[in-house]
Amino acid sequence: MKYISTRGDAPIQGFEDVLLAGLATDGGLYVPQVWPKFTKEEISEFAGLPYTELALRVITPFVGDEIPADELKKMVEEAYAGFSHKAIAPLVQLGSNDFLLELFHGPTLAFKDFAMQLLARLMDRALAKRGRRATIVGATSGDTGGAAIEAFRGRDNIDVFILHPHNKVTKVQRRQMTTPSEDNVHNIALEGNFDDCQALLKSMFNNGALRDELQLAGVNSINWARIMGQIPYYFAAATALGAPSREVAFCVPSGNLGDIFAGFVARKLGLPINKLVIATNANDILARTLETGRYESRQAIATDSPSMDIQVSSNFERLLFELSGEDAIWLNGFMRQFSDTGTGLLSDSVFDKFRSLFAAHRLDDQQTGEVIAKIQRDSDYMADPHTAVGLGVAALARQKGEIADSIPMVTLSTAHPAKFPDAVEKSLGVQPFQPDIIVAQKNLPERYEVLPNDFDIVADHIKKHARVVANS
Ligand SMILES: *Cc1c(COP(=O)(O)O)cnc(C)c1O
Repeated sequence: MKYISTRGDAPIQGFEDVLLAGLATDGGLYVPQVWPKFTKEEISEFAGLPYTELALRVITPFVGDEIPADELKKMVEEAYAGFSHKAIAPLVQLGSNDFLLELFHGPTLAFKDFAMQLLARLMDRALAKRGRRATIVGATSGDTGGAAIEAFRGRDNIDVFILHPHNKVTKVQRRQMTTPSEDNVHNIALEGNFDDCQALLKSMFNNGALRDELQLAGVNSINWARIMGQIPYYFAAATALGAPSREVAFCVPSGNLGDIFAGFVARKLGLPINKLVIATNANDILARTLETGRYESRQAIATDSPSMDIQVSSNFERLLFELSGEDAIWLNGFMRQFSDTGTGLLSDSVFDKFRSLFAAHRLDDQQTGEVIAKIQRDSDYMADPHTAVGLGVAALARQKGEIADSIPMVTLSTAHPAKFPDAVEKSLGVQPFQPDIIVAQKNLPERYEVLPNDFDIVADHIKKHARVVANS
């Protein structure tokens, strides 16, 4: 499998090069040059397979012949061996045709573990094969950082630096990142918000000299392998509910759009997805874009669902590329307009396609709290605030007639409530039950460095601590 950049001006590369590169050299994001497609018969066979077997079948066409089948199988099995639920991604029924897909049974209790556990193994293998080291620099709104550190801690060939917005992640999220004591783990609390972290990260990747000196590798969902690792659970859920002979809708709590883009890919691969519903909190750039056709960023607002406090969604670029019929020239113009003016205009045809495949709605903190209380009351189920945004938006999409009652609706449950205890307590009056891993982290020392939102200071800090530089 070969990959092309959305900006159309970077070398076409194979799976492992794309895995190690993250961002393309022209500033674009990699997507497959040709999309694989499963037949109806193949999709029927997915029903009832163990999760790892299904994941292997879905992932294999994207890896192509770059990794021997038995090695890939072993990596996939190891990636999910640490999950605490036998089904890996269990489906829970909440209403007559409404379901939750629980994606929080991995080691850091959010769906980010699905891709990150696999990504770490793929990267480690690719680096070892090439006799190379790498420096991972990642930005997190809270959950990516914990998942990345958990997946990469102690690995010989990789140092990991995670930038999180200072004081804008929950204590549980912070401790997951700052308590691992391995020397290759480095945390930077940036004085800014998540968009600042992400912008700084992008400028580091766009700086050729720094990128080479540090052998930078990215683990944010700009990295194609992150998307790839999130496609299988769409197949698992939909085939359990009757696909391919029945259509299924998905509602996805969204920030950077990596998760829902994986759903869009599942649809491209042949899964009969009726509609993909984007659920946002008050940071509603995507819901506004779906209404108006104008992609217009505003100041990010801190909410009770902090992992979605994002204004500039990196994977919107991949989506626009696909919706425009892979028109890199149009996309370059759009991205330039957006970075110059803060507003990008969708073309009529892109807007039409966006509206035909997607719905999008927002929920503010108060509405989210009401959903947490209602789900507890009606179904005796405790939802985390991100999941609650999803459930509230799914209900809105039903009310507005965007999803027919006959279509099963699967809302992705992206995190365990114990990661967001204060928001849950605000609506239910009680703290969620704390799993052992969270309790254990409370008594461990934390390590992180508070740095200003300044490219040179952050880059110097990373250069000082990265083993790639020290050993060169
Ligand atoms: C990352 C995250 C999201 C948003 O996912 P994207 O892929 O960035 O759209 C939603 N909920 C939780 C709990 C997350 O950690």
